Amino acid sequence: MSVLPNLYDLSLDALAKLLEQWGEKPFRAKQIYRQLYVERVTDVDQMTDLPKALRHRLSTEATIGALTLDRMQTGDKGLTRKAAFMLPSGEIIESVLMIYPERATVCISSQAGCAIRCSFCATGKMGLLRNLTSGEIIEQVLWAQSTLATIAAESDDTQPTALTNIVYMGMGEPFHNYEAWWESVQRLHDPKGANIGARNFTVSTSGLIPGIRRLADCGLPINLAISLHAPDDALRTELMPINKAYPIQDLLEATRDYTIKTGRRVSFEYVLLEGTNDSPEQGEALARVLRDGPMKDRPQFMHVNLIPWNPVPGTPLARSSRKRVNAFQQKLREQNIPCTVRVERGTEIAAACGQLAGADDVGDPTTAETVISLETLRTGTR
Ligand code: SAH
Ligand code: SF4
Repeated sequence: MSVLPNLYDLSLDALAKLLEQWGEKPFRAKQIYRQLYVERVTDVDQMTDLPKALRHRLSTEATIGALTLDRMQTGDKGLTRKAAFMLPSGEIIESVLMIYPERATVCISSQAGCAIRCSFCATGKMGLLRNLTSGEIIEQVLWAQSTLATIAAESDDTQPTALTNIVYMGMGEPFHNYEAWWESVQRLHDPKGANIGARNFTVSTSGLIPGIRRLADCGLPINLAISLHAPDDALRTELMPINKAYPIQDLLEATRDYTIKTGRRVSFEYVLLEGTNDSPEQGEALARVLRDGPMKDRPQFMHVNLIPWNPVPGTPLARSSRKRVNAFQQKLREQNIPCTVRVERGTEIAAACGQLAGADDVGDPTTAETVISLETLRTGTR
C-alpha cells in the first residue's frame, strides 16, 4: 500500500498543515484544493498556478487518488455504468453511475465488503474486507463526474452533463465507517470544493442507531434512508443480524427523534422477497408498525421505498412478482403510508442494489452491453 499521502484524503486544513511543514505559504493549500475539486485535475503538472518546485514535490511526495479503474461495464443502453476499482491493498470496490433525463446519480461504496452480513445482499456475503478512506470514497464521485464529462464530449444529445446526486448505497455500511464517510460528505459538499448541495446526498443505513443519532446532530440536511425489510423482529433478525443489537422499536424511536430534531423526512427501504416478507399480512403488519409505533404522530415524515429483490446467486431467496409487489404496496396505501416502488437500474450488469460484490458471477452478463475501453476513460477529461 502506498505510504505517500493521497491528496483526496486531506481536508483543506490538513492540506494546509502539510504545506506548512513543507515551508509553503498557506494560500497554496487553497489553490491545490481548488485544482482537485473544482478543476478536477488529476495530474500535478496541470496545476500550472503552482511553482515548479512545489509541483515536483507534490508529484514525488504525494499522490492524487488511490483507485485503479479495473473494469467498466455499461447497461440500460449506456445510461447505467458500473466501475470496478482496485484499492492499493488489492480489494475491489464498485460504483454505479445512473443517468436520467434531468439528473445523474452516482451510487458509491463506503467499505470493501460489509460486516453486517444481511442474508439477501451480495456485499454481505463477502464480510468486511476493509474500510475505505475519505479519499477513496470521494474519488468514486470524481470518477462519475469525469465519466459524465466524457459522455457529454462524445455525444450531442441532451443528457445531463453534471452530476446531481450522490447516494451512499453501494458496498458497505456507511455508519460503520462513520468518520471517513462523514469527511467525504463534508469535502464533497464544501462550497470551496466540489460544492454539491446537502439535499443531493442520500445515506442508507442498515439501522446503526448511533450513526442515526450522530447524523441528527450534524446540521447538514442530507437525506436518510433506513433499511427495514421486515415488519417484526424475528424475521428482521433472520434477514439482518444487526437487528439483535438495534431492534425495530428502538430503530423507530431513533428515527422519530431524528425527524423531530432535523424536520426531515426519512425513507424506509423494504426489499421484497417472495414468500419471505412480501405477503399481504406482512404488508398490513408493516403498516401497523409504522402507523402505531414510535412514528405514529409523524406520518408525514416517512416514506416507504419498496425494492423488488435483485438476485444474488447462492441465496435460497426469490424476487417478488409484480403482482405481489402491487398487493403489498396496496396494503400500505390503505393505511395512508406513502409508498413507491423503486425503478430498476443495472440488473443485467449486476449493478443494482445489493448486487455489488466485485465479481462477475452476479447479474446477467448475456444482456450486458459493451465494456467501454479503458483508454477512452483514462484519456477523458476529468
Ligand atoms: N449498507 C447500507 C447501504 C448499502 S445497501 C444499507 O444496508 O442500507 C443499499 C440498499 O440496498 C439497502 O436498502 C439494502 O438493503 C438493499 N439491498 C441489499 N441487497 C439487495 C438486493 N439483492 N436487492 C435489492 N436491494 C438490496
Ligand atoms: Fe451491508 Fe447493506 Fe449489504 Fe446489509 S444490505 S450486508 S448492511 S451493504
